[in-house]
Amino acid sequence: MTVSPNETVIDARDVVKTYDTGTVQVQALRGVTLTVARGEMVAIMGPSGCGKTTLLNCLSGLDEFDSGAVYIAGQDITHMPDDRKTEFRAREMGFVFQTYNLLPVLSAVENVELPLIVSGVRPKVAREMALEALDRVHLRQWANQRPAQLSGGQRQRVTIARALVNRPSIVWADEPTGALDSKTANEIMDLIVELNAAERQTCVIVTHDPKVAARCHRTIHMEDGVIVRQDSREQMLAFIASGGGAE
Ligand code: ADP
Repeated sequence: MTVSPNETVIDARDVVKTYDTGTVQVQALRGVTLTVARGEMVAIMGPSGCGKTTLLNCLSGLDEFDSGAVYIAGQDITHMPDDRKTEFRAREMGFVFQTYNLLPVLSAVENVELPLIVSGVRPKVAREMALEALDRVHLRQWANQRPAQLSGGQRQRVTIARALVNRPSIVWADEPTGALDSKTANEIMDLIVELNAAERQTCVIVTHDPKVAARCHRTIHMEDGVIVRQDSREQMLAFIASGGGAE
């Protein structure tokens, strides 16, 4: 993808999403408008059920929405056919989601190379790319260990390596530090910040932790399906300094 500096990479306009369970309708997104620039790290915060995961799923093309539009690097993903969307996602996006957990029977390097193998990369090339990605998260010497042989922080670094293996332009992370103690969470954020600075990938991170949000350039606060406020890093740091805890 060729993009100029300051180019808007994510452009969401008035996105509305309703879940219809048959008995009840839940309006999860009630008109979300948002732009994110290339290289920007954005945190999304808000109480449980306010629509954070739904927003991530709609922006990344994992889920359909009722109305509005989403452009990723200028491409209208709203009307993209499913097969093209899948291919676009595989090429341009990396995911650090709880639902994409590591496969326990595979080693770290096999977990990282899996998405490449699935998208048709030759095994030898995939192995080289996977080892290089493990190198970037400082885990190369653990390449042959299975997830159960790794610590929680190391496992999360493997999922980050897997998300980055194809050098995507956008990384979506849903609670990437949620299951980690605060020291390990901090180390994972150090790594995400370091990778963001080195590669200028755009990162969108859902988190409950103001300390994680304060590592991002900007924090978006959601409530009840809409964006209610946006804070700069300085505002988040001031919030923490004033004794603000997790939401
Ligand atoms: P958050 O990530 O902020 O916790 P979600 O995006 O998961 O919020 O959910 C937003 C709202 O949509 C909630 O009311 C939730 O119960 C509802 N919801 C989420 N997924 C589904 C689904 N698959 N079917 C029905 N309702 C859903």
